Amino acid sequence: MFNSLQEKLDKALHNISGRGKITEINVAETVKEIRRALVDADVNYKVAKDLTKRVQDKALGENVLTSLTPGQLMTKIVHDELVDLMGGSQEGINLSGKPTVILIAGLQGSGKTTFSGKLANYLQTKRNKKPLLVACDVYRPAAIDQLKVLGGQINVPVFTEDGSTNPSTIAENAINFAKANNHDVVIVDTAGRLAIDEQMMNEIKSVHYFIKPQETLFVVDSMTGQDAVNTAKAFNDALNFDGVVLTKLDGDTRGGAALTIRSVVEKPIKFISTGEKMEALDLFYPERMADRILG
Ligand code: GDP
Repeated sequence: MFNSLQEKLDKALHNISGRGKITEINVAETVKEIRRALVDADVNYKVAKDLTKRVQDKALGENVLTSLTPGQLMTKIVHDELVDLMGGSQEGINLSGKPTVILIAGLQGSGKTTFSGKLANYLQTKRNKKPLLVACDVYRPAAIDQLKVLGGQINVPVFTEDGSTNPSTIAENAINFAKANNHDVVIVDTAGRLAIDEQMMNEIKSVHYFIKPQETLFVVDSMTGQDAVNTAKAFNDALNFDGVVLTKLDGDTRGGAALTIRSVVEKPIKFISTGEKMEALDLFYPERMADRILG
């Protein structure tokens, strides 16, 4: 994860550690290298520029020039700024409501269905819940089958309605089914399209309006870099979602989405997905992510 970013930041911070006496010019050079590393990792230019400006101000304010360990001090400053950028602390999901209704949104291929299964598995095994999965993709029968297979693997029932063309009705029927069968969480997996279009947005907006979920999670493929951030913005404008799920962090992703989404949509990343297996799901901790990025 984030190998290239890690290497470049390490190099920039290492260079300043190796010096005898530090000057303001050395600090400026290091900051510039950090900015370049962030932009290369697909961090939005303005976000990278603002962050490195704060790093520079803090470094000079905290007397990095006279510090005996300037590299360590700079690393700590960068670490703290990365944590802040990613939202500070872990934010969990809202499990209020009887049952709790969780709507899963995102583009096709982002990892929505896989995440729906993982979330059900997490709630069942770690939070002692009795989840129900709901297949609401009325366009792709294969997506419904995929959810059934995942449900079978983790022993969670999957609510489907053959032949129905209205996702809001399917979701509503599923919620009634959950009430009648003591399910305390309903996870609604919706249809995705390859790109954002009006029809798709209207459909998910109407499901959202109809079922009034306690929690709406937007799933996005971290490999798509800046596009991930733009997609997040479009979905947030439509749904005012509660949190982000970043998927495919096990791949060779550059880091831009993880670092930028929070500051662009002002919503927390709640989960990260790191593989195809049902167990490959973690809560998102900004602190741990910053530790990883700085090696
Ligand atoms: P959906 O169309 O949004 O429902 O996406 P899917 O859940 O079908 O996922 C698309 C593909 O990505 C599938 O082949 C999944 O196995 C794979 N996938 C999903 N999440 C992850 C992940 O975190 N890491 C990896 N490596 N693959 C993933």
